Amino acid sequence: MNEKEQRHLMVERQIAARGIRDQAVLDAMRDVPRERFVAEHLAEFAYDDTPLGIEEGQTISQPYIVALMAEALELTPTSRVLEVGAGSGYATAVMSHLADAVYAIERHELLAHNAGVRLRNLGYGNVQIRHGDGTLGWAEHAPYDAIAVAAGGPDVPRSLLQQLAVGGRLVMPVGPDERVQELVRVRRLSEERYEREYLGRVSFVPLIGADGW
Ligand code: SAM
Repeated sequence: MNEKEQRHLMVERQIAARGIRDQAVLDAMRDVPRERFVAEHLAEFAYDDTPLGIEEGQTISQPYIVALMAEALELTPTSRVLEVGAGSGYATAVMSHLADAVYAIERHELLAHNAGVRLRNLGYGNVQIRHGDGTLGWAEHAPYDAIAVAAGGPDVPRSLLQQLAVGGRLVMPVGPDERVQELVRVRRLSEERYEREYLGRVSFVPLIGADGW
């Protein structure tokens, strides 16, 4: 089976079968070459139903979790997105299909650099990546219609709540344990009011930073 066929099977068996219905998300997952976001020796596992190791002891997220978060963010072609924890850049690429612009922050310089090179080589032009502490957000491009946090923290960082547009959605793994969290969606209802929903248990690497662990 070639990679395109593997991606189609991945979407059918791992993603659509688990209830992801947003056609744009399913199309994006069929399009992004996950094998290009992992080391060569892991490329044969790129369409397995699992996270995989990347540099700096971090992970590329499980495809289903990337799709679940993208769907929960309710992205549209006009969305401005902030991603905290770009890692390999895989979820950045998926969201770049679904949004107008994606601003991604990664705390490991090497990962930020590699993700930036990869996304450029693959032609993702509506993405900017920088190295830094994403718990402080990226004020320059705020407010964001959607914020994806791909690492687990004790609570949602204040700066991220402030940088979310009214009507915007933020999705993040939250909980007192550094390895197991609840995936939370926060919706900003007004300047002052936020609503929280719980989307299920997940396991992410820790969010390390001024307003993380
Ligand atoms: N979605 C990514 C992918 O598909 O490759 C996976 C990201 S990995 C699960 C989480 C990333 O968050 C790691 O690369 C980690 O270095 C990063 N991270 C942790 N704390 C951070 C922070 N405060 N700011 C930015 N990135 C952070």
